[in-house]
Amino acid sequence: MANEPTHEEPSFLEAPWLCRQVETHLNHDSFRHSSRKRFHHWAWNKIHLEMHKPEQRLFSTWAVYKFLARYHWLHHRYQNKNFNGVFPLADYVLGTSARANTADLQLMQQIGIAPPWSGR
Ligand SMILES: [Zn+2]
Repeated sequence: MANEPTHEEPSFLEAPWLCRQVETHLNHDSFRHSSRKRFHHWAWNKIHLEMHKPEQRLFSTWAVYKFLARYHWLHHRYQNKNFNGVFPLADYVLGTSARANTADLQLMQQIGIAPPWSGR
């Protein structure tokens, strides 16, 4: 039969070019994942260190840092809440987010991570 594959034809899965493509894709994905992970660890270590041992780093006055600092401060106060210091939305979705009460806000103001809010 003319249409039947011969034993000399490589199967699709054995094609060397496919193997190279898959390997390249996996290595590329692995590299990207690994790079993201390293960046996350580096960034979180800088941010977390500033939260616990303030050295007035460049980002320490940024509003997003102050938000994350308050968020993380609440995690240490209520240890079963606010687990995700980088993506707080996850805690909202999973029901593990904590809200600051008046006493919390006063303590946060004392350490400089909350503005002097009034009437809250
Ligand atoms: Zn901490």
